[in-house]
Amino acid sequence: MTSQEKKVRKKQMKKAVKSVKTVKDVLVIARYVVKATGYVVYRVRSSNGVDEYCTTLDASGKATGCTCPSIKPCYHMTGCEALEAQRRAANTASTANADAERRRTAPLQGVNRNGGFRLLK
Ligand SMILES: [Zn+2]
Repeated sequence: MTSQEKKVRKKQMKKAVKSVKTVKDVLVIARYVVKATGYVVYRVRSSNGVDEYCTTLDASGKATGCTCPSIKPCYHMTGCEALEAQRRAANTASTANADAERRRTAPLQGVNRNGGFRLLK
């Protein structure tokens, strides 16, 4: 193998490692919210399918730590950050929908609003 070939091979290997890292999905077992602080804790399954780790996010949804042994930020942190962002986006959307529904079905809707006062005449 020439040195040129070695260089190319090294580059390809680097690329392969990178793409594997981004493919990894975080498997969430549970999600806890610490109401006093707003911190969110995700219990996640390790990539070996046996161990469990805790990934913590602060109130703004930014990952602050993970109990896994890999170099931080690990894929659990980035994965949980993404999940939390998705969750918050979905939550604000559904809250807006519920609010619109509540207004639409409010008791005064469809009732003659002057009805109550007409009796006073
Ligand atoms: Zn981790």
